[in-house]
Amino acid sequence: MTTPDKDLSQRFLNEHEELKPGQDFRFACHPGVSCFGACCSALDLMLTPYDALRLRRSTGQSSKDFAHEYADTSAMPGVGLPMLSMHMQDTEAKRCPFSRSGACAVYENRPSACRTYPLGRATRSGPQGVEEHVFVVREAHCKGFEEPSHWSPATWMADQGLVPYNAANDRFMALASALRQFGLDTGRHLTSQQTGMSGLALYQPDDFQRFLTGSRLMDRLDMTDARREDVLHDEDACLDFGFDWLELSLMGHDEHLKPKGHGA
Ligand code: SF4
Ligand code: SF4
Repeated sequence: MTTPDKDLSQRFLNEHEELKPGQDFRFACHPGVSCFGACCSALDLMLTPYDALRLRRSTGQSSKDFAHEYADTSAMPGVGLPMLSMHMQDTEAKRCPFSRSGACAVYENRPSACRTYPLGRATRSGPQGVEEHVFVVREAHCKGFEEPSHWSPATWMADQGLVPYNAANDRFMALASALRQFGLDTGRHLTSQQTGMSGLALYQPDDFQRFLTGSRLMDRLDMTDARREDVLHDEDACLDFGFDWLELSLMGHDEHLKPKGHGA
């Protein structure tokens, strides 16, 4: 799990057992465990931009329809970036809307937190890039820890298809962390217009592509024709561009994206 909130991250670090490199853990989750599906309810399940993008592949909806049906929107504490979380069903059990008789109806595109469990992943930006800490989250009701399979954090994350999720989520966290620091250093916070543009770039790649097609925004940026085409036709590339463009437009600099003619 990645979390955008510093206090939450610290609580996480304090409460759970960290796995050091080389340490492994026992776990498996499958329909044969007696608790199968028990954990898919009453969750505080954050949806990162990449989570939302992937979930929409299962639902086939537009980003607006998806957010309206399945998500709650809030502002990231201390940063102001929009953030989605899964709207649990409005019933006593508060089950995830994608839980079907214990199974996950969107398994191929399930969110990163669902993939990462029983591990938790906390990240922070360090001098060498993203620093990762991995924890085991042992919950008493989870029988998966009694299963014989052994994993290292790396083999678990690869098995659960987390590589593209972690890469995109790390960019989201880096943007949030840089914006938090930028706000502290300059006293400047996101305006409502900037919040709206951030939501478009992060959570509405389909609408962002339409916006880019009808505007001259990319003409003013130093981009290859190939990247422009990718951004307009591939939502993963569009989200990657969104991270770059928000860093550039909100804070004035970005490692991967420069205004046309920069340094000329
Ligand atoms: S409680 Fe644990 S073993 Fe049971 S379904 Fe959830 S993750 Fe799997
Ligand atoms: S998305 Fe799937 S795995 Fe995640 S909580 Fe919902 S039903 Fe469970």
